[in-house]
Amino acid sequence: MTSDRDTVHITRSLVSLNTTNPPGNEAQAASFLSNILEKHGFVHKRAAFAEHRASLVAYLGPMTEKPAICFCGHMDTVPLGQAPWQHDPFAGEVDGDRIYGRGASDMKSGLAAMILMAQRLAKEPSLKAGLCLVFTAGEETFCQGARHLAGVTGALPKAGAMVVCEPTSNRPLVGHRGAIHLEVQTKGISAHASMPELGENAIYKAAEAALKLRELDFGLPAHPLLGKPTLNVGTISGGVNINSIPDQATMGVDIRIIPGQDPQTVLASLRSLLGEQTEVRLLDHAPSVATDPQNPWVQEVFEIVETITGHSQGPAAAPYFTDASVLTPALGNPPTLILGPGEAEMAHKTDEYCYISKIEEAVEIYTEIARRWCCS
Ligand SMILES: [Zn+2]
Repeated sequence: MTSDRDTVHITRSLVSLNTTNPPGNEAQAASFLSNILEKHGFVHKRAAFAEHRASLVAYLGPMTEKPAICFCGHMDTVPLGQAPWQHDPFAGEVDGDRIYGRGASDMKSGLAAMILMAQRLAKEPSLKAGLCLVFTAGEETFCQGARHLAGVTGALPKAGAMVVCEPTSNRPLVGHRGAIHLEVQTKGISAHASMPELGENAIYKAAEAALKLRELDFGLPAHPLLGKPTLNVGTISGGVNINSIPDQATMGVDIRIIPGQDPQTVLASLRSLLGEQTEVRLLDHAPSVATDPQNPWVQEVFEIVETITGHSQGPAAAPYFTDASVLTPALGNPPTLILGPGEAEMAHKTDEYCYISKIEEAVEIYTEIARRWCCS
């Protein structure tokens, strides 16, 4: 059994490693995790995409015809933000059932549950299928580490099922929308502010474009679990000084996409809406993830979670996107669930915390999922 002490110790140790991204520095967390896993017989490989920035892939058991089950999580966290913290963000302060700190919910509690499950699986006399753990760097910056990992030949095995250990309060979620980030640029003609008739104001054009984007309807029916696509104009900048007509303005646009949408069709619909005067450029793209709730493995996980938590499970999706956008295709498109002990509402917040009891529950759930996959 996992003792309360192990759970708290590992989670606190992970919280105390500052992996706020930027700059990330995930290599220290990769070393901490690989040291533990090595002692339990895992083979592991690192994939670094920059100095001090490495993802880690660890594997236990045979490479058989039955593909491995994969658990994944990211090691980086978002920065602390401007507001002061009541709890030291890197001390892992414990108060009752709570552990405080940056990343406590998103998602060092998830990493701790993965490690505690791995230690238990390592005690099984013989595994019939492999257990693969993927720890990524740079998830918070558009799945940077996962993308790098997906591009390294032989870094990832073929997987038959995947659990993404992001915060869901231990509720299994069958997918999430994807995301497209775009830059929308308008051009004008500069002139002295006292003679606007001699210029063309790029900010006015951007403002008109923003209002058109607010009304954009992608014309798609809502996906039964992921809902409808949405759009947000998140940034705007333009002009060089207050007394000139601005000749350029730029907006950052975030679009959450559902199955059936891809960057090409989205770009085409924006270009036809905004006209030729506006330039639209793709910055980043992560596909949506949607696993069939009727998949037998998904049904089995629902049953395991129901038994352990006492809560009945119905299909639902995550509001945020995860590394699964990149890793699910890279692992051969296995059925994918997002399921982890953190609290999604705590993610990215000041005085972020997680519940120790949820981490222990996640260890029970993960162990049963892994045991059924690897031992039978
Ligand atoms: Zn996360």
